[in-house]
Amino acid sequence: MKTVLFEEQGDPSVLQWIDYPDPILTPSQVIIDIKAAAMNHLDLWVRRGIPNAPLPMIPGSDGAGVISQIGDEVNDFNIGDRVVIQPLTYCGNCEACKNGQENFCQSFGIIGESELGTNSEKMAIDAKYVYKIPDNMDFETAAAFPLVSETAYTMLIHRAKMNRGETIFIWGASSGVGHIAIQIAKVFGCTVITSVGDANKAEFAKSLGADLVLNYRTQNIVDEVKKYTDGKGVDIVFEHVGTTTWDISTRILGLGGRIVTCGATTGAKVNIDLRHIFYKQQSIIGSTMGSVAAFKAMFALVSEGKITPHIGKLFPMSQIVDAHNYLEQGNQIGKVVLLT
Ligand SMILES: [Zn+2]
Repeated sequence: MKTVLFEEQGDPSVLQWIDYPDPILTPSQVIIDIKAAAMNHLDLWVRRGIPNAPLPMIPGSDGAGVISQIGDEVNDFNIGDRVVIQPLTYCGNCEACKNGQENFCQSFGIIGESELGTNSEKMAIDAKYVYKIPDNMDFETAAAFPLVSETAYTMLIHRAKMNRGETIFIWGASSGVGHIAIQIAKVFGCTVITSVGDANKAEFAKSLGADLVLNYRTQNIVDEVKKYTDGKGVDIVFEHVGTTTWDISTRILGLGGRIVTCGATTGAKVNIDLRHIFYKQQSIIGSTMGSVAAFKAMFALVSEGKITPHIGKLFPMSQIVDAHNYLEQGNQIGKVVLLT
């Protein structure tokens, strides 16, 4: 088979598209012939270097394809089944897993980070991470939704406990996680304010249903949010940017508000004024990946057409270096998907 592989961490030039031995099936696994694999910022972090990441590495957390081999212990699948991968790995036996909080499992991992990923023509994977997709769902869509959807749903619903009618500020409408978060908030009957960097992305944000779209380059976000909310501020800020946005996130947060964060793409050190936190009774909530329940909830919403991952750019998987360079530039709208 052909696969994407890197043997050392570094810039995109470490990525190779090479011949590699086919994966070997274990009894609890299936082999998927990958048709589409979506990219995430995690792919860039893993390539640049995450401590303890295995090497050599095949990157990629999201993937969809067709089952071509089935392990002896696997009963739920047939050869030829069209499937998608749920990217969180977990033990299944601990207290957290038994309570349906697999992302709190002591041994949780992510496909493409803690183990070999989806950027390959063939992949062996434990059958418990594999789900059949409906006939009318294409591979690109199936590959595009899981990681960002699991993350965004868990942040808003399980962690920030979003209520119908609340006002949510979502940074980065065109980002993978942001464009899904907007759609979740709308499905749950909330008002959405979001940020973009140019007019093209503003149109995209409106098409997702955002109620107020602000250009962070040309508009004062604090003033505009205060005006729109009659001075009250928002109930939830959806954070994944970090240093460059944090001060604004805290200033637009209302009484009893929650900042929920899953990432820090611009830096991890921020200022916190404790007086605001206790006086305004606010919460800062961390969130990583999501539970199987979050995946299933999002799978249903995508299957029903209520939420649609937007595929902004397709690359042949063989052009993996170009794809990493493209994602690193940050101009994509929605998801970047690789095709075998
Ligand atoms: Zn567990």
